[in-house]
Amino acid sequence: MDPTLTVDRSTPRKTPARGRPSVATDVYRGLSFWHGTAGDLTPRAGLDGDGEADVAIVGGGLTGLWTAWYLLERDPTLRIVVLEKEIAGFGASGRNGGWCSALFPRSTASLERAHGRPAALAMRRAMIDTISEVERVAASIPCDFARGGTIAYARSAVQERAARAEIAEAAAYGVDEIGWRGRESVGAAGARGASFDRNCASLHPAKLVRGLASALEARGVRILEHTEVTAVSPGSVATARGVVTADRVVVATEGYTATFPATRRRILPLYSLMIATEPLSDAFWDEVRIAHGETFTDYRHLLIYGQRTADNRFAFGGRGARYHWGSAIRARYDRAPRVFKHLRRTLTELFPAARGAEITHRWGGPLGVPRDWHASVRYDPATRIGRAGGYVGDGLSTTNLAGRTLADLLTDADTDLTRLPWVGHRSPDWEPEPLRFLGANAGMLAMAAADVVERVTGRSSLIAKVMGPLVGH
Ligand SMILES: Cc1cc2nc3c(=O)[nH]c(=O)nc-3n(C[C@H](O)[C@H](O)[C@H](O)COP(=O)(O)OP(=O)(O)OC[C@H]3O[C@@H](n4cnc5c(N)ncnc54)[C@H](O)[C@@H]3O)c2cc1C
Repeated sequence: MDPTLTVDRSTPRKTPARGRPSVATDVYRGLSFWHGTAGDLTPRAGLDGDGEADVAIVGGGLTGLWTAWYLLERDPTLRIVVLEKEIAGFGASGRNGGWCSALFPRSTASLERAHGRPAALAMRRAMIDTISEVERVAASIPCDFARGGTIAYARSAVQERAARAEIAEAAAYGVDEIGWRGRESVGAAGARGASFDRNCASLHPAKLVRGLASALEARGVRILEHTEVTAVSPGSVATARGVVTADRVVVATEGYTATFPATRRRILPLYSLMIATEPLSDAFWDEVRIAHGETFTDYRHLLIYGQRTADNRFAFGGRGARYHWGSAIRARYDRAPRVFKHLRRTLTELFPAARGAEITHRWGGPLGVPRDWHASVRYDPATRIGRAGGYVGDGLSTTNLAGRTLADLLTDADTDLTRLPWVGHRSPDWEPEPLRFLGANAGMLAMAAADVVERVTGRSSLIAKVMGPLVGH
């Protein structure tokens, strides 16, 4: 565990004058379709001088907020402070695809290879249970939660083989429930059928994370916005506005973890980008056979993901934005016209009837990728510093499991959760530059090339097999 973390001051940033927002509220509203429709985004007050807490949490995303939530459930007397550089939900937690799934960045088979079968199955069960736990809390936080399942289209013979292999693997492990939907029941162009995984819900991510922050505040948690943490050390968290002394500290900065020099190579910030259409008619949704609450993808290698929003739009995203040298994170990287064009083209290839639909929103953000694509939760009783992250694109529900687990670890509880195989896992660091830049971008290009090869030849791509382990397959 890193006893001391300091923010790299070479990264340009906007530390606000005390009490004055660094970025206007309407800029936050423009961060994504979700932010624009999540209600009041007026920043809360920041830290005002030195303070004290039992637990200080760095980062007001879902990892930080779920941790506060479950800590309070375990001990309502705890004094908890959340320190957030911008506003709660500013990062990936407010901008994502809204898939509340049981997906974990490492497959069951690869977890079994790393940790043995019982541990791999325990992890799968915990992920599936997590959807119900989010549903339980979401009952009191309006966020359009709807458990509709995921349709994964098979649009070629190669993709159909991958789908059927996934269904067979799930049946062999006996935990996930994934079935096959025939060609006649799916509405994507060229689909030979689809796998259907019932363990997924769709939701409005910014409503969830902002609602969680408000509910925590109502229960006495101090949420300090516009408060950038500049250094973390055992028992204290430093900011330009004062120092918080705390018995225990949780670092929950996911992709932004790379902005601390001590953890620069721990997590690679990778951008995922999204578009949203105008609301579409019920007749359209009947034609494409996507019901409310359903999410969708297909079996290509360069990931795409979509949902039908509560107000009948497509919210549709995918990978393909390049990794930026030195793990840089900049507001301008949230928008890449080339990727937006690719997303639009892909959406209309899948659903030609959406050709005329207006694209009303375009956005993106950094998620966090560990070198071995293995998310983890860690707590060091010696330094009393905890952290969780490395969820890649599967953090919406996994953050909830992380929050519950951190709450157990920080309160010295020995539970089924603290024995899960991701607890204490330490991923290797990413390579220094230029190797990191070359490797990450080569991996991305390879996956795009593998999709082209499979489309043209109709055979499984060798590139995908060779590069797969690098990109988490
Ligand atoms: C476009 C996109 C689509 C995605 N789609 C999905 C999906 O559909 N399903 C899914 O499961 N996952 C998805 N993900 C991933 C998921 O959103 C993340 O894994 C998850 O939200 C991570 O939550 P977090 O709280 O750990 O990190 P974040 O939400 O990134 O929160 C970290 C917070 O730390 C703050 N911070 C950073 N530095 C400092 C500092 N020095 N001081 C104080 N605060 C700081 C940031 O401002 C930020 O608010 C997607 C991600 C993206 C970007």
